[in-house]
This record gives sequence, C-alpha cells and structure tokens, in this order.
Amino acid sequence: RFAEVQQGAPIEVFAVSKAFSDSTHQKKVNLSVGAYRTDEGKPWVLPVVRKVEVELAADTSLNHEYLPILGFDAFSTAAAKMLLGASHPVIAEGKVTAVQTLSGTGGLRIAADFLGHVLKYNTVYYSTPTWGNHRLIFLQAGFSEICQYRYWDAESRGLDINGMIEDLSKAPENSVIILHACAHNPTGVDPTQDQWKRIADVVEERKLFPLFDSAYQGFASGDLDSDAWAVRYFASRGFEMMSSQSFSKNFGLYNERIGNLVVVVKDPSCITATRSQLTLLVRGSYSNPPCHGARIVSRVLSDPVLFEEWKGCIKTMSGRIIEMRKGLRERLEKLGTPGTWDHITAQIGMFSFTGLSAKQSKYLGEKYHIFLLSSGRINMCGITTGNIDYVAEAINDAVCN
Ligand code: PLP
Repeated sequence: RFAEVQQGAPIEVFAVSKAFSDSTHQKKVNLSVGAYRTDEGKPWVLPVVRKVEVELAADTSLNHEYLPILGFDAFSTAAAKMLLGASHPVIAEGKVTAVQTLSGTGGLRIAADFLGHVLKYNTVYYSTPTWGNHRLIFLQAGFSEICQYRYWDAESRGLDINGMIEDLSKAPENSVIILHACAHNPTGVDPTQDQWKRIADVVEERKLFPLFDSAYQGFASGDLDSDAWAVRYFASRGFEMMSSQSFSKNFGLYNERIGNLVVVVKDPSCITATRSQLTLLVRGSYSNPPCHGARIVSRVLSDPVLFEEWKGCIKTMSGRIIEMRKGLRERLEKLGTPGTWDHITAQIGMFSFTGLSAKQSKYLGEKYHIFLLSSGRINMCGITTGNIDYVAEAINDAVCN
C-alpha cells in the first residue's frame, strides 16, 4: 500500500525557510516565514509573556489536567471581547459564543468543518491571492466548490475593489466568503471603511456567509480597535458570521497554538445547539486544546496593567515594521530602482507584496541568499538596520538585471 503513495507538493514557505537554514552564506536573509524578528534578526519573546510565564511557573496550584473540549472559557470570552469590543451590542444581546482552537489554522478548520458538515455549505470563496492554507483547509474539510474572488490589482499594486465586488455578486447564494480582518496576507492591502461597506452590501444581497480570518489584530496598525473595524462593522450589520482569531503574531506565541473561534448568531437560543455541534467536531479531531497559551493570553487580557504592557509590545513590533518599510522604500528610490515603490509604505502588517517576479525572487535567493516566496511576498520583519542596505541593493540588482 505505501508503495502507491505519491510525493506530495512541498509547502513553499517551509521549503524556502529550509533553504535559508541550509545556506552558509554570511549575509543570508530570511524574508519568507511569517514570524516577527527583532532588529538583531532574533525571535522575540514578548516581555509581558515572559513575565506571566514566570508567574505561572511559580503557581503550584496549577496542574496539567485536561481542559474542557471547547477550551478555557475565560480565555475565549476575553478574546471575543478583544475582537468585537467589550461593549459591542451583539455581546450585550447574548448573540456571541466562542471556543478555544488550535491557533488561527485550527479555528479556520473547525469553522470549515462546522460550515460544511453542520450548516451544509459546500462552496467557499477566497481572495486571489490569499494565505496558502485557506484552500487546503476547506478542501480537507470536504468543500466541493473552492472558488476565488479578485483582490489584488497588479497594475495599481492595490485592491481591485470593482473586480472583488463583481465576483462576489456572481457568487451563488449560500457561499462562504473568507475575508481577512486586517493586514491581508500576502498583499498587505486592506479595503477602506467605505469599501468594506460595499463588500457588506454584496454579502447581504447574495446571502453569503462571512468568515473572518483575524491573524494580525494589533499587529497591523498597532491599534486593536482599528484592526478589528471590519469584523465589528459586519457584526453590527446583523450578519451571522464566524471569526477565527490567532494569537501567534500579536502575542508571539507561534508554537503554543492558541486561537479562538468567535461565532455570532442572530438568535441567542441557537447557541446551546451550536456549541454542542462544535463540541462533537473538536472531540472527533483533537479532543481538547492545550492550556499554556490560553492561560497567558487570558491573564494579559484580563489584567489592566499587563494589558497596557502588551499594547506597548504590539506597538514595538508594528513600529519596527513601519520603520523598515520606510527605510526600504527610501533606499530603492535613492538607488533609482526602476518602478514605483510607494506601495511598500502603503501596505500594512507583516508582509509586503513587492511586485518582484518569481524569476527575480529566485535570483535573489541564488545570488544573494535572500530568501522570499516566488510570489514576491516578503516578511518585513526579516529586514533589519544591519541588512537593509544589502537587501535594497540586491533588489535593485534583481530588478535591473
Ligand atoms: N491566517 C492568516 C492570514 C495567516 O497569515 C496565518 C499565519 O500565518 C494564519 C491564519 C494562521 O496562523 P496560526 O495557525 O499560526 O495561528
């Protein structure tokens, strides 16, 4: 039987990161994987996270008992408030429920399973381009129609809002539509508030089901509220909807797999049955989630002093990214690199969709040991004050070559 197994396609982001690790070049730079790096190019344990971990380690009342199937309730409640805003009417009206998930990916998978198996949706739409995992998650959840809507306009290096609206208005009724809550991955281009209103109109008109992917709240602008504007707006329009929250980036808790799936319903009396179905889905896939990340996040979100400290950490991360965007753009403009580079500062979040071609990206890897995805997406966090000149000059060479 195993002799029949075909080689699966490699996951590009991990393959590129491996190429980086394998390289012995002194000036090698990893611009691929979506993780924060300090200006020294190192992973960062947020000081507020470290502080809470020390407290937790000293607390002998804690143990390693199983969490309930739907996770740590205090965490889920605090996380839902962070997303929707504590005073959002849907919370006051009892229309919200939330369950802990295996990070953002796990939240999307449980959402996909629920939408497919319980609500019987079979069509999903995601943006072109999108985060590479959306397709795989819905495919493996059994969706038979996996479709795309236009999003990126290569010419203007911005949002193709008319294409997006046109594609959504042609989507069959009862399709699920995946929307990035903020800091769209990979383009770094988000709709404006007016554009979000147009999107909400067509979602309503076509009876689409909005599923928000919120992987970068706070990380995009440094402000938790403005990064959640779209989700809050949709909730205030009365949609039934789901949002998957990740705490990988904004808490730096990548390998703790901490996430939350927030469900907004029209009628609060549906919540008990909804939770019971979510319980069965989780039970049959991983039984119950891990605790460490949930303890950290809930402690930080519920303590005003720690919360302020965390907001400071988010500002540090988003601020460094903004500085690197400015620095890279300035250097490319100064070098006279052909093309326009203002999109680098206009885009937000961790990534920049540079406009570099697959050939240019390959050239950067082979000649300069600067590793990025073939789509031209770069993780801005891989750029530091120590390597920014090297990166800018290499990009200039790749574009001129
Ligand atoms: N959604 C988007 C758009 C992402 O970029 C990511 C991570 O890169 C995720 C979801 C999920 O991340 P995780 O499963 O690590 O929380």
